[in-house]
Amino acid sequence: MQNLVRIVLVETSHGGNIGAVARAMKNMCLEELALVRPQQFLTEEAVARASGADDLLQRARLFDSLEEALADCQLVIGASARLRKVRWPQLDPRQCAQKVVAETAAGRRVALVFGRERTGLTNAELDLCHYLVHIPANPEYSSLNLAMAVQVIAYELRMAETVPEDEAREQAPVAAFEGFMEHLAEALYDIGYLDERNPEKLLRRLRRLFHRAELDAHEINILRGILNAAQGKKRRSGEGREQWLKRLKP
Ligand code: SAH
Repeated sequence: MQNLVRIVLVETSHGGNIGAVARAMKNMCLEELALVRPQQFLTEEAVARASGADDLLQRARLFDSLEEALADCQLVIGASARLRKVRWPQLDPRQCAQKVVAETAAGRRVALVFGRERTGLTNAELDLCHYLVHIPANPEYSSLNLAMAVQVIAYELRMAETVPEDEAREQAPVAAFEGFMEHLAEALYDIGYLDERNPEKLLRRLRRLFHRAELDAHEINILRGILNAAQGKKRRSGEGREQWLKRLKP
């Protein structure tokens, strides 16, 4: 995604803000910075605020017009501090991130456009955008500092493209899960925990609980180890046990 997403700053007044944007971008693994007619650029403050992200600053591309900065982009999203009337379709930062991830996954180039510190983006500039993104802020004080707005949007991009460790985990297949449920029924019988009039009710609840936990194979092994340990002390025997186990088989 990184090299397909371009952050475009329009007529930024303060070099310091451009530096802070470079830093915010690099923190979130974005690399491509485009500047449309910045009033200042490589000032001392810019380098200081970039704080180690000055490589991004050095590589920033300068453009005379927004249109040129967007020429090779297939999706353009403008960041606006104000909620506008229906004229432009609006996204929140999370929806924006989903769109960007989907587009870049398909190999398309995306631009995120940010306006001037004092006046934002003009209507003519917004006309070049397919969508607007608005960070839902205090309605009476909704304008974030430029670099902070970039940070929020870039953070959502990062979250949308990072697969949480949890999702990378592999849920155990049905057979392993059912083996565990059977073992659980057995163990609950052995330790005398099942209500013998209606054991299915509790087992169904536990089934829902463990389904929600999306157990992986390793976790099932741990739980079965615990069941074995509990059974070791309390294992019951005899015909009654066999009958119970038959009844509880799914
Ligand atoms: N006073 C200007 C705000 C400029 S802030 C105005 O009212 O438009 C500089 C830029 O930061 C904005 O053009 C926008 O791109 C971005 N920005 C600031 N706050 C934002 C918010 N709440 N949502 C989306 N973008 C925001």
